[in-house]
Amino acid sequence: MVVTLGILALQGDFTLHKKMLAQLDAPSILVKYPHELEKCDGLIIPGGESSVMSKLIDSHGFRNPLLEFSKTNSIFGTCAGMILLSSTASSPNLNPLNILEFTVCRNAWGRQIFSFSKEIEVNINDGVNFMATFIRAPKVTEISDSLKVLSTLNDEIVLISDGKHLASSFHPEFGSDTQIHKYFINLVKENEKKHSLPN
Ligand code: GLN
Repeated sequence: MVVTLGILALQGDFTLHKKMLAQLDAPSILVKYPHELEKCDGLIIPGGESSVMSKLIDSHGFRNPLLEFSKTNSIFGTCAGMILLSSTASSPNLNPLNILEFTVCRNAWGRQIFSFSKEIEVNINDGVNFMATFIRAPKVTEISDSLKVLSTLNDEIVLISDGKHLASSFHPEFGSDTQIHKYFINLVKENEKKHSLPN
């Protein structure tokens, strides 16, 4: 089964995701308008600045289309994208989408100059190691039992899933390791299979 992935391209680091998907021969499109979601089986919300992206989501009419899309399709939020998927309380400059039941504290891994890469153990497939890059990353502060923790670093949660959506506090699109993107493509495929089954 071939699936098409969208990458929300309002702001932030969408081009590196596109390059990584190209390495995997996975068809992808940069999504700049809500109607383009119709062509996508799954969506990546990239890292960037969650407050800016939150405003652009509203000014570009993306909020309801994204919420509708999330009901039947998988979304992968990375860093700022993770913040947008969360149920963190709204503030005047940030209104998360409330798609997954967890909250975050923004920039909790430190400022830009404290960006770092570190090998993490990821509980996917039979367990893999992944060099994860953290840039002003959020920390998860509360999480529902319905979510599975797929990786931690220094006892902090860095990768979670509810079996349909995926959220990472790090940037999986840096470097050349495609394992996390591959895992997401499989989530999208599994989800597509479920939705194409006759009732
Ligand atoms: N600190 C940013 C935010 O709060 C996220 C940083 C990133 O995506 N690398 O939106």
